[in-house]
Amino acid sequence: MSITHDYHVHSNYSDGEFLWKMLRGAEAAGLDAVGFADHCNVADRESMRLEKCQLGFTLDETYERRRAAIESFRDSFDLTVYDAVEMDYDPRDEARIEAFLDEADFDYAVASVHHVGDRNVQSKGPFRDLSEAERRVVVDDYFDALVALAESELFEVMAHPDLVERNPLLRGFATDDHYERVAIALAGSRTVPELNAGRVLDDYGEFHPAPAFLEAILDHDVSVTVGSDSHRPEEVEKRVPVLKERFAELDVEPVRIV
Ligand SMILES: [Zn+2]
Ligand SMILES: [Zn+2]
Repeated sequence: MSITHDYHVHSNYSDGEFLWKMLRGAEAAGLDAVGFADHCNVADRESMRLEKCQLGFTLDETYERRRAAIESFRDSFDLTVYDAVEMDYDPRDEARIEAFLDEADFDYAVASVHHVGDRNVQSKGPFRDLSEAERRVVVDDYFDALVALAESELFEVMAHPDLVERNPLLRGFATDDHYERVAIALAGSRTVPELNAGRVLDDYGEFHPAPAFLEAILDHDVSVTVGSDSHRPEEVEKRVPVLKERFAELDVEPVRIV
């Protein structure tokens, strides 16, 4: 078992390091191929436009510039480099997302539910004043959005399928029923989930999806791909070996998406 492809790394076209530094990291990790999936949001709601301004995420306007940079680096690195995207998914934005993906024509699209009702599920702030019952509803809505993501057929990859677990205020509310519903939606979709190593070596300490969720997915014969979700070159080097170990444990081969 070896990990030759990493379909989910970031660059400074969103919140990662320079492209060339990430490519050096991918080479050092022994990869054959790496895909840049920088954050991108095309929602027209004011709160989402403001968040994009605050974070400085501009890929919706700069993807052609990044594409030219990726082209220019191809000869300097012994790697296949993919020009991809990590698209924020909200069911309300499907038409805008579809139009943007058609126009941009990336090698593939990774999709993420980062927000529920425009609250970023990775932040504690928006959930601090909510009761436990209200936070449970947020988690229900999060898993509903994952089902819609799979059913939309817009994307090659579903990113970090239980992202809510990263947030201590939303952790522990996911149920077997949530897992089962998402697994069924994935089984009927071209979209494949990734095994995401974004927090496995950090505070959270677990892959996405967590073991019980992954089991439900594999029980439905859904293929799984791989994403280190690295933002720094040293993260690629550290995460590729743990992904390799985990796939070996599972006795599952990560599926190629391009
Ligand atoms: Zn993400
Ligand atoms: Zn990411």
